Amino acid sequence: MKNIEIIGDLSVEAMPEAIVGANEKDAHSLHAVPGRDFKVDRFADLRNAVAGDACPRCGAPMTIDRGIEVGHVFMLGTKYSEAMKATFLDPKGEEQFFVMGCYGIGVSRIIAAAIEQNHDEKGIIWPMPIAPFAIHIIPVQDQSERVMITAELIYGSMLRAGIETIIEDRSERAGVKFNDADLLGVPYQVVLGEKNLHEGFVELKNRRTGEKQKIEVEKAIDHLIELVQGPRPQPAS
Ligand SMILES: [Zn+2]
Repeated sequence: MKNIEIIGDLSVEAMPEAIVGANEKDAHSLHAVPGRDFKVDRFADLRNAVAGDACPRCGAPMTIDRGIEVGHVFMLGTKYSEAMKATFLDPKGEEQFFVMGCYGIGVSRIIAAAIEQNHDEKGIIWPMPIAPFAIHIIPVQDQSERVMITAELIYGSMLRAGIETIIEDRSERAGVKFNDADLLGVPYQVVLGEKNLHEGFVELKNRRTGEKQKIEVEKAIDHLIELVQGPRPQPAS
């Protein structure tokens, strides 16, 4: 052991007494006193904090949770103000360098974090405030004139109401359209199928809950506007 430098973790420095191991089961010794029983040449911050470690401020055991970094705060100090000679006069009239800081929020990280928190096995579930579209219109039978005319009518009305809406305009099988709609994760899907339309209904699906609801074609536009923009203020009577 003579020529080996012994480096202790900072936590060892604070130990009045310790259990020391021997890299072997049940071969440890109790009541070892750092300094008396072994000499540490220098202390360093060696180990990472783990769950259960005592909080350095209050001593309570720490827990470890996953987090998502969406931004940074940087303390710049006087590095740049010195370089730029950016100063102010303090109350004594003396020139001082500004202490600078900056912060940045990662826009693309917010998107990634939101998706990480809002998805299921089928795909994205956009939270309404950052959804790229509020409504996804899905005409099932794109050969059907009635389906396409109603779809375009609802689509146009949504755009005029200022509601960002996407319309499925590919000739794909219904299953492909539904799966892709779930994958894209627009909050509300409006499904127009021939059978429902014949009975006077369109289907509204809530992407988050999966809940499906039949709404009358004539009431669909008002219903969708209210769904996205909230109830319209009633005129005072
Ligand atoms: Zn604490």
